[in-house]
Amino acid sequence: MTLSAAPQWSFSSDQGNANYRDARRRYPAQAVIDMRALRDNMRRLVAMANQPAAGQGKAGRQANGHRTEVMGVVKADAYGHGLVPTALAALAGGATWLGTAQAREALLLRHAGIGVDRARILTWVNNPLEVAYDELIANDIDISVGTATAMEKVAAAAKAVGKPARVHVKVDTGFGRNGFTPAQAEEAFARLGDLADEGLLDVVGQWSHLAVADAPDIPEFVEETDHQIALFERFTRQMTNAGIPPKIRHLANTAATLSRPAIHYDLVRPGVGLYGYEADPAMGTPADFKLVPAMTLQAQLSSVKDMLPGMGLSYGRVYLTEELTSTAIVPVGYADGIHRSASGFDLSGSRHTSKPGGPVRVMTNDGPKLFRVSGRVCMDQFIIDLHGSAAELGVGVGDTVVLFGPGRGEAYAEPTADDWARAADTISYEIFTCLRNRVPRLYLNAPEVLSESDLALLDPASIL
Ligand SMILES: *Cc1c(COP(=O)(O)O)cnc(C)c1O
Repeated sequence: MTLSAAPQWSFSSDQGNANYRDARRRYPAQAVIDMRALRDNMRRLVAMANQPAAGQGKAGRQANGHRTEVMGVVKADAYGHGLVPTALAALAGGATWLGTAQAREALLLRHAGIGVDRARILTWVNNPLEVAYDELIANDIDISVGTATAMEKVAAAAKAVGKPARVHVKVDTGFGRNGFTPAQAEEAFARLGDLADEGLLDVVGQWSHLAVADAPDIPEFVEETDHQIALFERFTRQMTNAGIPPKIRHLANTAATLSRPAIHYDLVRPGVGLYGYEADPAMGTPADFKLVPAMTLQAQLSSVKDMLPGMGLSYGRVYLTEELTSTAIVPVGYADGIHRSASGFDLSGSRHTSKPGGPVRVMTNDGPKLFRVSGRVCMDQFIIDLHGSAAELGVGVGDTVVLFGPGRGEAYAEPTADDWARAADTISYEIFTCLRNRVPRLYLNAPEVLSESDLALLDPASIL
C-alpha cells in the first residue's frame, strides 16, 4: 500500500478520477490547481478593491457609486497555472479585465472564446516594430503605449484596420522600466492628442507600475510609493491639459490592492494575489489576507533505498549522509522548473556552507513529516535524506509527496511556494512561473466554478 502526503482530492466524477490516474501514468508529478481557490481569491480581491479607504468613511468614492474594477493578471501562462482555465476562474470570481504581458497571450484568450462582452484585455510587452497591432485592434484588445515608436505604430495599424485603437498611456513614475518619463511627457501627450483627434487612437487609460509597494516594513520604500503616486497624479493633470483625460486610471498591483485602498482608482491589477499569495512574506501570510494558494505540486517517489553513513548524495558531493539512513528520489528536477538553487548543502565543517534545501512533505507512519532536498537538484530528479529507516517510517516507492500546496497549518506540515522561494533565494512568483509544461496541470472543482460552456474550453483530460 502506498502512503499519500497529498490531500484527498475529491473528484467531480468517475471521469475525473480516471483523468487523475491517467496523468499519474503519464508523468510522476502533477500540478493540481484548485479552481475554487482561484475564484474565491478573485472574489476576495474584488471585495478588497471596493472597500472604502481608511478615513474616507461613508464619504468614500465607493459610497458615491464608484466601482473599482479588477484585472486578473494572467501573464506567463497565468503564473504557471494555465492561461485559459485561470482566466475563466478569474472571470467567475468577478474580474472584468484580464491582463497579459505578451500580445500573443492576449490573442490566445480571445481565440479561446473570451469575447469583449466578458472581459477587456490589456497587453503591454512587445516589439513595437513587428508585433501584430492590427490583430490586437481587430480583436478588441487594449494596448499599452509608452514609447513614441509604439504610439506611431499603433496609430498606423489603426488606420489600416479602419478602427481606432484603445490605448493605455504608460507613464514611468519611478519604476524605471516601461512608460514615458516626465521629460518625455509633454511632447508625447501632445502627439497622442493629435492622433486621438484624427480618430486613430482612443486614449482610454493612464497607468503605471509600483516598485516597492510590497515592503510596508521599510519606511523609505513607503515614501517612495507616495512619491510615485504624486507623480502619477501629476501625469493625469498633464494628460487632461493635453486634451486626453484618462477615463480609466490604474496603478495597484497585488501589494497595493491589499494595502493601499487610496490608490485603487478605477481598476486594480492583482497577479500573485489571484494565485493565493501575498506579494512578499514581509506583508504577512496568504491567510492574513484570506487568500488560498491555488496550486499543489506533488510527485511520486521513484526509488527508496538504505544508505550507509558518509555517502555523498548527487553531483558535487555537497551533502554527506550522517548516519545509517534511507534516501528517496523525487523524480522532478530543474528541467521541470525545480530551482537548482534549492539544493541542500549539508557538510558539517567542510568547504561548503550548510544550507537547507527545498522542503518536501512526506507521509510516514508517524504522520506527515517535512524532509529537504539533500544534495544538488539534478535535471530530472532530486534526493531527500529521510534521516531514518524507510521501512520504519513506512515510506516506499510510489508514495505521493508534496513539494508545495496551500500550507494547511503547522500540524499538517505542508510547505508553500514561499518556503521554496526562501530555499531557492527567490520569490514565490518564480517558483510557480518556472514550472514546465511537461508536468501535467490538473484542475480541481472546475465543474463547480465554471459554466458548462466555459468548462468546454478546458482540455477534458485536465479536469478532475
Ligand atoms: C505582473 C504585473 C502586475 C501584477 O503584479 P503582482 O505583484 O503579481 O500583483 C501588475 N501590473 C503589471 C504591469 C505587471 O507587470
